[in-house]
This record gives sequence, C-alpha cells and structure tokens, in this order.
Amino acid sequence: MKVPFVDLGAQYQAIAPEINAAIQGVLEKRDFVLGSDVELFENEFADFIGTRHAVGVGSGLDALELVLRAWEIGPGDEVITAANTYIATTLAIMAVGARPVLVDMDPATFNIDPAGIEAAITAKTRALIPVHLCGQPADMDPIHEIAARRNLLVLEDAAQAHGALYRGRKAGSLGHASAFSFYPGKNLGAYGDGGLVATNDAALAERLRQLRNYGQRVKYVHTTIGTNSRLDTIQAAILRVKLRHLDLWNTQRGEHAAQYNALLAEAGCAVPQIAASRTHIFHLYMVRLENRAEVQKILADRGISTGIHYPIPIHLQEASASLGYRKGDFPATEKAAERILSLPMYAELTASQCEYVAENLREAIRITSDSRKQGATLAR
Ligand SMILES: *Cc1c(COP(=O)(O)O)cnc(C)c1O
Repeated sequence: MKVPFVDLGAQYQAIAPEINAAIQGVLEKRDFVLGSDVELFENEFADFIGTRHAVGVGSGLDALELVLRAWEIGPGDEVITAANTYIATTLAIMAVGARPVLVDMDPATFNIDPAGIEAAITAKTRALIPVHLCGQPADMDPIHEIAARRNLLVLEDAAQAHGALYRGRKAGSLGHASAFSFYPGKNLGAYGDGGLVATNDAALAERLRQLRNYGQRVKYVHTTIGTNSRLDTIQAAILRVKLRHLDLWNTQRGEHAAQYNALLAEAGCAVPQIAASRTHIFHLYMVRLENRAEVQKILADRGISTGIHYPIPIHLQEASASLGYRKGDFPATEKAAERILSLPMYAELTASQCEYVAENLREAIRITSDSRKQGATLAR
C-alpha cells in the first residue's frame, strides 16, 4: 500500500466538476485581476471566520507582512512570535525592518508559551504574533490580557488553522488582525499561492486594499507606497468552491486523528494533545518519538510518506544569523525538532490507510528500539 503525505489529486477527483465550472466561469468573464470572485470569496470567508472584513492577498507571507506595514511597524520595533513556527512568520517581521523576538513553545500544545511572552517584552515591542501551529489555536486569553495591559497589537498567524475554534470562536477572529495562507497543502488550499487578512478594523482593511494594489485608492491615484499582492481571481473562484467543503474536510481530518490516537495509544510515541476549550483541525498530525531517522526510513520503505515540521528551528537557520540566537536558547523547540514526525493527514485518507500507517509505525518503533537496546548491549 502507498500512503502519500497529502493527496491533492484525491481531493480534486471528488470535486472536479465544481472546480472546473468555477475556473471556466472566470475564463468567460476574464476578470482575472481583482475580479468578482475575489470580493465574493472575501465576503464568504469573513462570514466563515466571523470577522467584518477580509482582504485577499498574494500569499500568507504577504498577509503577515502587509499587516505589519499597515501598522507602520518597522526599524527599531520588536515583534514577539513563536520559536517553533514556519520561517514565513519571522521573514515577514524582518521584511518590514523590525526585529523578531522569539519565545519558546509549550511542549504540551506546541503553541507559544504565554509566560515567556511577558519576559520577552521590551520598550520596543509593538506586536505579538501567536501562531496556531498544526491547526490548534494558541492560548489567546492570556495573550490578549498581556497585549491589553502592555498596549500591543495582536496579529494571529492562522495559516494552519482555517476553521479551528478557541472558546467557540474561530481562529483568525481573535486578534486585531489575522493572516491566512491558501498554499495548496493547507486545509483550505488554492491551486497556487494565495493569502488573506481577516479583521474587524475597517480602517486597516481599507489600508490593506490600497497596499496590495500599488497603493492606489482609485485607479492611477497612488496615496501610499504599495505593492502588487492581490489574491488571483481564478484562485478565489477555486477557494469559493473549496470553502463549502472545509467543515466536512476538517471533521474527516479529526476522525483520522482519533483513529491514529487509538491505534498509537501503546506504540511508544507521544500523540498530539488538545487543550481544553480548543478544537484542532489537524493541518498536521505530529507525533514525537525516539530514533526518528530510522523510523522515517522504515516507513518510507513501506510506501508511507511523512514530514518534519520543522527540522531546523528558525533561530538556528543561517537566514536568522543576524538575530544572534544560539543553540540552547529555546530548549523545548530544539528538543521537539529532533523528535517530531508528521504522519499522512488529509480528508480523503481511508480507514485502512490510517491502519496501515499506525501498524507500520508501531512496528518501526519496536524494531528501532530493539536494535538500539541490542547495540547498547554489544557496546558494553
Ligand atoms: C504556510 C505558512 C505561512 C506562509 O504562507 P504562504 O502562503 O506559503 O506564504 C506562514 N505561517 C505559517 C505558520 C505557515 O504554515
């Protein structure tokens, strides 16, 4: 049996007639840039998330960067975010000239540790970017409490959390603004790049509409130094179709996660923990185990593709050298980076595929821990 890490083909097969008609519709209207589907999708996504406004942009990275730009965060400013996020979060901060200040994760949830935020705040801190990693919302209540008390802006990185709930409210509706990505592999993915900012702030939304479109308020009247970062009309049409299926797909991911949890209960690996008052949409289903390289190879040999999100923490990346961090600065993040393994996860995964993955993972853990013990005996 072959189990890919994600299977975008299986999803397309299931909804091909709807997708094809949506693309055809744009081709017939030929409103390729900021066409009618962009605004329709923005409205539908804002309704789904529960914000008043949504602004479609070119990518998740651009969504993060444009909000920081709109808030006039730049050189001399600091922005606090999680050490264990995808590098896009810190690249957005660096792109506007501000300094990313990292905070270690809570090992239970993989979300930013609120206690660490307080300690990282300085007179230069302007904003917090909690990341809803893997599809589980960060602990937003203490984050909001700190932000309100210290007068900081909160930008949610919701790139992995389309539809996840925190105390009954959608991730992406909890901060002053939020950034979504529609990278193809995300829970709501386009057939190319795409991103969006959700917010209740009308003035911010208006400013973002200008920034994404060459800084123009009306055609050829440029009021600010903008850029070209517009959600593509064809992608918006595709996303409108997919948004109608998202709740079902997220539910199916949850069912696969429950099946993995049950089958891996005694396997010798740590399975994801979900904090009270949150739902998890399992963008990633991540286990933690010893002997990861060997386990991953055994699974690959048996047709099972897995991933590591992410193998090198941001503060140890060459691109972050200017930040001056060193190995040992974020122990929970560093320890996790050596042990995490993401199992195949997508809505169309079948029960027998889940079983095959779990069975082989159990066996791989057994084989590698036996050979490790044997090696230790021989070495003695
Ligand atoms: C995917 C992702 C991004 C960036 O989104 P792109 O659309 O690829 O630019 C940002 N943050 C996180 C946590 C992500 O997973």
